[in-house]
Amino acid sequence: MSTKQTIVILGAGESGVGAALLAKAKGHAVFLSDSGKIKPSYKKELEENALEYEEGKHTEERILAADLVIKSPGIPDKAPIIKKLREKKVPIISEIEFAGRYTSKKMVCITGSNGKTTTTLWIHHILKNAGKKAELAGNVGKSLARLVIDDEAEIYVIELSSFQLDDMYDFKADIAILTNITPDHMDRYNYEMQNYVDSKFRVIQNMTANDWFIYNADDPIILSEIEKRLSAGHPAGKIAAHLVPFSIEKTEGMVGYVNNNQININLKPEFSMSIHDLSLKGKHNTQNSLASGIAAKILEIRKESIRESLSDFKNVEHRLEFVAKVNGIEFINDSKATNVNSVWYALESMDKPTVWIVGGVDKGNDYESLLPLVKDKVKAIVCLGKDNAKIKEAFSGTVDVIAEAGSAYEAVALSYRFAKKDDTVLLSPACASFDLFENYEDRGRQFKAAVRAL
Ligand code: ADP
Repeated sequence: MSTKQTIVILGAGESGVGAALLAKAKGHAVFLSDSGKIKPSYKKELEENALEYEEGKHTEERILAADLVIKSPGIPDKAPIIKKLREKKVPIISEIEFAGRYTSKKMVCITGSNGKTTTTLWIHHILKNAGKKAELAGNVGKSLARLVIDDEAEIYVIELSSFQLDDMYDFKADIAILTNITPDHMDRYNYEMQNYVDSKFRVIQNMTANDWFIYNADDPIILSEIEKRLSAGHPAGKIAAHLVPFSIEKTEGMVGYVNNNQININLKPEFSMSIHDLSLKGKHNTQNSLASGIAAKILEIRKESIRESLSDFKNVEHRLEFVAKVNGIEFINDSKATNVNSVWYALESMDKPTVWIVGGVDKGNDYESLLPLVKDKVKAIVCLGKDNAKIKEAFSGTVDVIAEAGSAYEAVALSYRFAKKDDTVLLSPACASFDLFENYEDRGRQFKAAVRAL
């Protein structure tokens, strides 16, 4: 890797800027190009490090002359500049792939449709509490490229989206975790589920018999894909890593499972603890705790230390976050629930009559799977989006009260009117937020502010 290359980086977010800093540190010629506006803090950093960049445009001539392109995960394959680069056969890789070339530290990589951030943070929490030099990277925290410049960590815990995985080729995880696969981002995968599944499974590529693949064995899509890959003749080759399944529904053949309200991990020395002592509630978080606990066991963290960290972990905002109780009505912010599957788990964990705030930008949702839970638990729906026709149509036969709100304040006011003492108001939108809000964080914060103003 010592030969000097001309590297072009597309996109100047955390991953692009991190890649630029690393590329420069390794002696390459670097040019960074962003077709939009670059955040002032990143611009400052680029200037301080004498890195050449442009914003608001892509100068094709210069970009097409690159030896190697590092692409931000946000740029889709159908972007004209990417098409041209592919035609010219210029290699395009992701920032994680690039960073992986400059470190040989242990890599724990987490992917899946839901639960990535929670599981990544939970594993990092366990490792830090146990005194390990662990660093968070990928979609949470700093970019891996930035971190490997000094490469001081012992273990990197990396959240990987399918978009990052798409441009990874030689990178290898020591431990890979696949939390679940449900339809999401179909627009980026030509509306072909198999393309999305293949992308997620790239997390295990290049793994050897010394590596570990931890996966959710309650997920039928994951199971059937593993089955396919275990039979001879799959283009990706047989799975070489140790297979480490976990389940909250079955015990046989599982490395992690739930029995008599205990989570159990069947790796010597065996581990168990009560699910009531887990700091995060809901079945989905029991799955996340199993995945995290197994990874920690593989990394030989002491049982007492794992138990303590599984019981005192605090999740970040917007994931089934308790906001306040107002006149006996509990308000919960699950603004990060931007697809149907995450809402399923949110509704599943509701144990009181619920006023459900839902809506935003539809990503091709099919609400069918939610109907039984909605029938059982939801007393009123408040739509929070510009176009709510699909939601009204999906639930009008199931819920009598459906109202529409144009802002978080209005949604909270309406919900407060529909709810009674001992009910719950749940914001769990199943949709993206860009019609009325800047992003899901903005939606969650406006919701919380409105609740606190009641
Ligand atoms: P991601 O990083 O994959 O988007 P998060 O941990 O940020 O995942 O959680 C996103 C949403 O999904 C939240 O609403 C959260 O409550 C829900 N969620 C978390 N873990 C799981 C899981 N294992 N299965 C389904 N939903 C989950």
